[in-house]
Amino acid sequence: MRFMQGRYGMDQFGRFIAAAALFCALLSMFLRHNLFYWIALALIAYSYFRMFSRNISKRYAENVAFQKQWNKFMGKFNKQKNLWSQRRYYHIYTCPGCRQKIRIPKGKGKIEVRCPKCGETFIRKS
Ligand SMILES: [Zn+2]
Repeated sequence: MRFMQGRYGMDQFGRFIAAAALFCALLSMFLRHNLFYWIALALIAYSYFRMFSRNISKRYAENVAFQKQWNKFMGKFNKQKNLWSQRRYYHIYTCPGCRQKIRIPKGKGKIEVRCPKCGETFIRKS
């Protein structure tokens, strides 16, 4: 307990680094590649360095920056996932006039699509 006093400890970024280290360690085992072994070791060393660091404000700032990136990544990922689930029922066309994405239900045959943004019409098979 006393050892950890005034030291930073674990946070989301630290857990992410530890998970990445584990992933690299597994990769090095499966691929029998030393590179991933050294990356795993470096990541573990870095996560310990952060845990025992006394520069708490700097580590805190790192974690905030990480969370920002992580949320951005997850937002993009969820958007992509959403798009994929919509592709089962909809075609997504891009307006030739203004690049606006337009969602059209599938299975309606040849239809005229009117862009809601710029008013351009074009024929597409749905
Ligand atoms: Zn348009």
